[in-house]
Amino acid sequence: MSKKVRHVLGLSGGKDSAALAIYLKQQNKNLNLEYFFCDTGVELPEVYTFLDKLEIYLEKPIKRLGSKKDFFHHLKMHNGMLPSPKQRWCTREMKLKPFEEFVGSDRCISYIGIRADEFRDGYLSLKDNITPKYPFIEDGLIRKDIFNILKSTVGIPEYYKWRSRSGCFFCFFQRKEEWIGLSKHHPEKFAQAIEIEKREGGEGYTWIQGMTLEQLLEHKEKILSNSKIRKQQSTKDARSWQDILIEDGQDDENQACTICSL
Ligand code: SF4
Repeated sequence: MSKKVRHVLGLSGGKDSAALAIYLKQQNKNLNLEYFFCDTGVELPEVYTFLDKLEIYLEKPIKRLGSKKDFFHHLKMHNGMLPSPKQRWCTREMKLKPFEEFVGSDRCISYIGIRADEFRDGYLSLKDNITPKYPFIEDGLIRKDIFNILKSTVGIPEYYKWRSRSGCFFCFFQRKEEWIGLSKHHPEKFAQAIEIEKREGGEGYTWIQGMTLEQLLEHKEKILSNSKIRKQQSTKDARSWQDILIEDGQDDENQACTICSL
């Protein structure tokens, strides 16, 4: 007897996957969705808070998946080579593998929150039992719609005040000003990232190419002032940070894996 097709939706702690889960629930299509989150154990604290909130709204548990070994084990296995855009072992080991194990050989449809106004590929599993589905593209939902869905339900994740994507606190995809944001909002996490860089980076590996986090702090004023110039318009008006984010914000997540930050 053939098994039923599973419907799965991966939540990253980011806005698009959360909005997709809410959107599909509101559509009441009775998909019996299985929600999951691939937890690296080193995510931003706000991600965990947001997922708890979302879980209450969805009225269904978000299954926490994870690698059997922690980040530091994998770091050791990669000879202390910090993950980077070119060496993204973290995504492979701690996000993609747990997802593929979760699905196993079951036939499943994986719902992905890529929007109609962006051009990027979701994680396309090479496993032929997993079929991706893009409801926002099919229904023509764009960035503004996603924020409206969140604003009217669980709210926008708090980290968007200072960072443009979810994921690990030390994610190498964050901009320099976001690293400075980490030092302000989570000084203990920033200190931990420095420690990892010093202890494990060893062979010249740094989180930011060509610069240590301590050097970043030395250039803090200049980085912040450059960032302020870029955001000049938003500093002049009296809109809330949520409205500024919706109206002026840009998504530069394209380079990051959708399973981490969508
Ligand atoms: S969020 Fe960043 S550091 Fe974490 S697994 Fe994804 S790419 Fe790697």
